Amino acid sequence: MSEEKSLNFLEEIIETDLADGKYTSIVTRFPPEPNGYLHMGHATSICLNFGLTNKYPGYTNLRFDDTNPVAEDTEFVESIKEDIKWLGFEWKHELYASDYFDTMYEYAVTLINKGLAYVEDATAEEIAKLKGTPTEPGKDSAARSRSVAENLDLFTRMKNGEFADGTKTLRAKIDMAHTNMLMRDPLIYRIKHAHHHRTGDKWCIYPMYDFAHGQSDSIENITHSICTLEFIPHRELYDWFIEKLEIYPSHQYEFARRNLSYTVMSKRKLKQLVEEKHVAGWDDPRMPTISGMRRRGFTPQSIRTFCDKVGIAKRENIIDFSLLEFCLREDLNNTALRTMAVLDPLKLIITNYEDGKTEELQSENGPDEAYGTRTVPFSKELWIEREDFMEVPAKKWFRFAPGASVRLKSAYILRCDTFDKDESGKVTAIHCTYFPESKSGSDTSGIAVKGTIHWVSATHAAMAQVNMYDRLFKVENPGSEEGDFKDYINPDSLHIVQAFIEPSLLKATLSDHFQFLRKGYFCLDKESTAEKIIFNRTVTLKDAWVKEVKKG
Ligand code: ATP
Ligand code: MG
Repeated sequence: MSEEKSLNFLEEIIETDLADGKYTSIVTRFPPEPNGYLHMGHATSICLNFGLTNKYPGYTNLRFDDTNPVAEDTEFVESIKEDIKWLGFEWKHELYASDYFDTMYEYAVTLINKGLAYVEDATAEEIAKLKGTPTEPGKDSAARSRSVAENLDLFTRMKNGEFADGTKTLRAKIDMAHTNMLMRDPLIYRIKHAHHHRTGDKWCIYPMYDFAHGQSDSIENITHSICTLEFIPHRELYDWFIEKLEIYPSHQYEFARRNLSYTVMSKRKLKQLVEEKHVAGWDDPRMPTISGMRRRGFTPQSIRTFCDKVGIAKRENIIDFSLLEFCLREDLNNTALRTMAVLDPLKLIITNYEDGKTEELQSENGPDEAYGTRTVPFSKELWIEREDFMEVPAKKWFRFAPGASVRLKSAYILRCDTFDKDESGKVTAIHCTYFPESKSGSDTSGIAVKGTIHWVSATHAAMAQVNMYDRLFKVENPGSEEGDFKDYINPDSLHIVQAFIEPSLLKATLSDHFQFLRKGYFCLDKESTAEKIIFNRTVTLKDAWVKEVKKG
């Protein structure tokens, strides 16, 4: 992908609008419904909306689309704000569609007065029956010919709570034979005696999405109202309301939803995973939620780079999760602190090293000298990875085997002499000789070795639980497979190991990112305590997965 990117279709529209003088600055909004945690699809919309007003003059509002009283919660409001801030964006105004309920009510009255809305008595089933089909016109209901005065009276009484849920609705009076089914007298208000997280019990009638959304855009003077493709047929209605109400003409533009392979991205499905305990919560590190990815160790920069690289489209497609991991590795390679941890420990004893002695060695912290070095303790007994020893070495094996010499990172060259086994045949320790003149940085030993491995001092290392995560689903597009998407959950998406970590990792904080040398990128988990240290594997160093899939 070249760095010089061409404009996306929205940037083209905006540049034309600005050049034509249609606008001197633009206003966009990110309009989440606070009924769940944000996921990568939302991240795309956030990067798009805020990205446009970072690039062009103008600003972006955060508007909670909280017109449905039942599903919404302040817990979600708080998490949404945290996630947007974490991604690195700033909204101009924090707004709530529910703050416009009075204005929306006035708008509805305006439509009634213009003879463009009426109170319906028919039930949802009766309304559906009269609606017709795409090839057959609908039929007028009896209520359609009500007088303005009667409609005003009934609508006021709806507001005053005189009617039960579902017994009356307010409908726009458009055209029951319209080719666009959404234009066949759509509902604009319904009765719902429910407590709202902000307006409490003030209202028992609530505006429908199509009425509330465009009107909120207009109230905020949104110039470019960006939504996903499924709203294309709604645009006609969006424009109709604005025209009939003679209010600020916001315009709706549509782009393709973001889909990612090996995961699902709908709040409804993510909620099921949480409620049925397939994952530990909305911020489980395997979830494609922003909070889950943060806990997993994704960086804001990697997500923004990903959104930028992928861009936006007018047709749906599935983007490979590996591309997101590629952006993550690229960022972490430049920023993560280098450390050592042994995930599958094998004891190494240095026969010719003094008992009880500790040397403080220096090891590089980062990809270049600017990061400096840290102290790593070295002693007679060490832990190395079990996979770095082979009893009978394979061809081109540059790690430990009887008689083979290897460099320990930032330390010495060691030669393996013997090893111990238990009754089951499992290797329990290896015994080595070290070469004192081979110390890293001042090596005068003249010994040439091909392999360098990581290690930790057994006396100084701390124990930690390391959560090794893999993808949550076994198939590329679990949502489109036959049966329930949950049948495709990867049963091996979490593998827990007990590791030994170098002492400097005891100072880790939740915002740190580490490379455990040769093992991948890791971060501290939020449930980690001094008594029980927990790290999460963010991502491996290389993309092992794509190859596996191709092989398998
Ligand atoms: P879900 O289907 O997961 O519930 P939603 O669209 O109902 O998503 P909202 O809270 O209503 O969620 O969405 C807020 C904004 O995020 C909307 O503008 C919506 O278009 C956008 N958005 C949601 N999911 C995606 C996605 N997968 N790709 C791009 N934009 C998305
Ligand atoms: Mg929604």
